[in-house]
Amino acid sequence: MARYTGPVCRLCRREGDKLFLKGKRCFTEKCAIERKAYPPGEHGTGRRRRRQSEYATQLREKQKVKRIYGVGERQFRTLFERAARIKGITGENLLIQLESRLDNLVYRLGFAPSRKAARQLVRHRHVLVNGATLDIPSYQVAPGDQIAIAVDGQDMPVVREAVADRKGKDTLSWLGVDYEALSGQMLERPSRADIPLAVQEQLIVELYSK
Ligand code: SF4
Repeated sequence: MARYTGPVCRLCRREGDKLFLKGKRCFTEKCAIERKAYPPGEHGTGRRRRRQSEYATQLREKQKVKRIYGVGERQFRTLFERAARIKGITGENLLIQLESRLDNLVYRLGFAPSRKAARQLVRHRHVLVNGATLDIPSYQVAPGDQIAIAVDGQDMPVVREAVADRKGKDTLSWLGVDYEALSGQMLERPSRADIPLAVQEQLIVELYSK
């Protein structure tokens, strides 16, 4: 499936929830969902939210998680199948794998304002893993892997602004970061409780189990 390249705020309005896809703007009154709290499209304002079927609720939850992490259907399904094979709770395993993606970690460490911007940094070869350039956003980072911004990316405004914004704020307990060196690592894999994400991953498991 082709990657969605339209206005990202539309995705939040479609899900009726803030997916935090635009970095800083998401925390301001400019956030589209704050201004237009109804679905996008011609009939958005007039459309009454009907009670959703069980299937529709499960489908929406899957779409929401896919959109938050910017993952296409095929990749998402592959992650799900892998999650189902790992010992433990499938839904939690799925989220842990999504959190372990290189683009997500660049974002979580505070080197980019959004996952989309993080993905660009990775694709444009501004990110190093264990000292070597790695341009695969979906790469599964292992605990202890060193993630750093390459020298040629360190003065990029997108990196500088993201770091200035994040510096001084709490970092997730399972991450370690050095803002001077622009490097960090996943200290351990997070548990579900360590992942700040208001989604019901069990609904996705139910959807794929049909
Ligand atoms: Fe979603 Fe952020 Fe746009 Fe608000 S500003 S609608 S949270 S992407």
